[in-house]
Amino acid sequence: MISEMSERCQTPKVTYITGPMSAGKTEKLHTKMGEFDSTHIHYVALKPIMDVRDAGIKPRGMSAIDGHECIGFDQLGNVDIESLVLAGIDTAVVDEAHMAGFDMDRQPLSDVYLPTMERWKRLGIVRVFMAGLDVAANGDRFRMYTDAKDFGAKIVHLTAKCEYPIDPDENRPTCREVAKRSQIFELASGKPFYRGSLPSILPAGSRDDIGFRPVCQEHYALLRSDTIDFS
Ligand SMILES: [Zn+2]
Repeated sequence: MISEMSERCQTPKVTYITGPMSAGKTEKLHTKMGEFDSTHIHYVALKPIMDVRDAGIKPRGMSAIDGHECIGFDQLGNVDIESLVLAGIDTAVVDEAHMAGFDMDRQPLSDVYLPTMERWKRLGIVRVFMAGLDVAANGDRFRMYTDAKDFGAKIVHLTAKCEYPIDPDENRPTCREVAKRSQIFELASGKPFYRGSLPSILPAGSRDDIGFRPVCQEHYALLRSDTIDFS
C-alpha cells in the first residue's frame, strides 16, 4: 500500500502544519528546526518574500537573534534546490506556505505544489515541513493546502482560542472557545470585516488599521449586520 502510494505520488514526505492565526504554526516549525539541528539533518528554511514581517523564521514574540535564518523566494519553483542538494541539504522547511500559491502581483498561481514537490523529490529532497493557513479570512481554501492534502501530505491541524471580544468589563474579555478560523477586523472599532468583501490575501502594503485574530465557528459565521465592509 505504502509503496503503491509512493510510486503514484513522487513527492518528498510532506507535512503541512495548519490552523488559524495564533495557533502556533511557526512555533511548531521552529521546534522542528531545533530537532533537525540536534540530529544533524541538513535543511533549508524558506519563506515567501511577499509581506515579510521578519527576516528569519521565529514564533511571534521571540527575538530575531533566536530565529532561524531563511531564504526568501518570489516563487517556490525558483528556489535553487539543485545547489542546496549539492551542498548536502535533503530537507526543506517552508513558512507562510499558503502564500506560495500567489505571484508577486498577488494573483493565484495555477500549479505550484505538485510540479515543485515532484522536482524537489527528483533532485534529492526527502522531507518537507510547511506551515501555512488552510482557509483565508474570506472563507476561500488556499490551493497550497488543498493540493498538499490531495497529494498525500500529512496534515497537522492546530487550533487557537477564540479572541472575539465578548465583554471587556468582565473577567472574560474574549470568547476563548476553540478557534479554527481567522478573522480580519478594524482595529479602531473591533468590528470584523464582512467575509464577502475580503480578498483571499490582502492588497500589497501593510495597513496599521486592521488586525487579525483566531475565531470560533460562532464568531466566524456572524450576521452581515455585525460586520463592516472591507474597502
Ligand atoms: Zn468565539
